[in-house]
Amino acid sequence: MLKFQIRRNIRQRNIEIVNNNLGVFYLDYVRDIAQHMMKKYKTNDPFELAEYLNIKIMYEDLGKHINGFYQSCPKVKIIHINNKLGSEARRIVCAHELGHAVLHSKVNIIFVQKHTFCDKGKFERQAIIFAAELLIPNGLLLEHPDYSIDQIAALHNISLELLKHKYNI
Ligand SMILES: [Zn+2]
Repeated sequence: MLKFQIRRNIRQRNIEIVNNNLGVFYLDYVRDIAQHMMKKYKTNDPFELAEYLNIKIMYEDLGKHINGFYQSCPKVKIIHINNKLGSEARRIVCAHELGHAVLHSKVNIIFVQKHTFCDKGKFERQAIIFAAELLIPNGLLLEHPDYSIDQIAALHNISLELLKHKYNI
């Protein structure tokens, strides 16, 4: 059952790649970049990775509707995180914004992450996939073959949305 689902997910992912004309930075390539970074720096901690990449983290009051954003100036790169968020949410926001920093450094836009994930444009999707690849361990689904995706998210106290993106569900 699970094997079937994984096979289906892989097929679905390949179809998505064939169907998209969004350039090379997509899906599996985004995942490969996240995996490569974790191997290179021997950590999946987005805060540590930001430090390796010389990206400053700033905690600020960003109001009620913004979780964080990435800003690239000529001399300094900054991930801004809303200081109202708890530690797990900060980690997710940091991983997401790190995705923008790594994948979209040449795109001259500020990516603002809102509470509602309504913007599913190509750059947003890439950043979410990057964060999912970083934060969700490989093989998590196989560890719990009898659990639903919701149960696994609850058991490990991880974001259901990230879990879905990690396994393309
Ligand atoms: Zn974003």
